[in-house]
Amino acid sequence: MWIASFNGNRLGVVEGDTIADVTTALDAIPPQTWPLSFGDPLYRYLDAVVARASELLPDAPRSPISDIVLNSPVRTPSKIIAAPVNYKKHLDEARDDVEINRGAHVRTIDELGVFLKSSTSVIGAGETIRLPFDGRRIDHEIELAAIIGREGKSISRDDALEHVAGYAIGLDMSVRGTEDRSWRKSHDTFTVIGPWLVTADELPDVSNLDFSLSVNGSERQNSNTSMMIWDVAKLIEYASATYTIYPGDIIMTGTPEGVSPVGPGDVLECRIEKIGEMTVNVR
Ligand code: MN
Repeated sequence: MWIASFNGNRLGVVEGDTIADVTTALDAIPPQTWPLSFGDPLYRYLDAVVARASELLPDAPRSPISDIVLNSPVRTPSKIIAAPVNYKKHLDEARDDVEINRGAHVRTIDELGVFLKSSTSVIGAGETIRLPFDGRRIDHEIELAAIIGREGKSISRDDALEHVAGYAIGLDMSVRGTEDRSWRKSHDTFTVIGPWLVTADELPDVSNLDFSLSVNGSERQNSNTSMMIWDVAKLIEYASATYTIYPGDIIMTGTPEGVSPVGPGDVLECRIEKIGEMTVNVR
């Protein structure tokens, strides 16, 4: 199932160019009481919501996707776990470009491990990336995003994909500079997740997906997930050895070569095979 969040508080199922409104399927989520669980309750109760959505689908009202505003299919992740330099050619370009490396030695993912982005940086495809200041280079990074569906700690590589609810396109917007990644990549609107969630049962293998990003119609990034240095399972194994992962947590799997600066008015067209396409505006 392709599950979308839209128009602020609506839940939809995507069918081709239309979206079916199944918002009342959210009634399958039990009332929340304090203290709340970490994460996004949609993902903690996703199986029940999907079952209810399937029942509602035949009679659900439909709209063209072009008529609605897409929000992130994950709204309240407890954390966003991100892989630095997880594609060899991006490592090479970072080492070659002083605007990216600022004269510092660029380390590998084996040396760096993973980092966290602020959970409040998330927006959807229909929202707008807002550049926080002039005069700093801010780059696009297209990445496969894995969304966690099942809580876990110290998850083995063999079990890792059983904890994934599904996948989406991710944008890891990044200020270049010497500050820590957790600051450079955590500004409000700097994590775009969309256009929707493709549930893992429909996408059991993400190890060989073409993906690309264009800025104002000019292609900048074009790669394949087979070029990842640490795959999704390894990222989950590594991250969950440190912190419990919760339903709705986002794994940003790293970007390939071709990162470049964006400015106000730019339009980013993002595509991942078998997930879809999203067009995101920058202001
Ligand atoms: Mn990144």
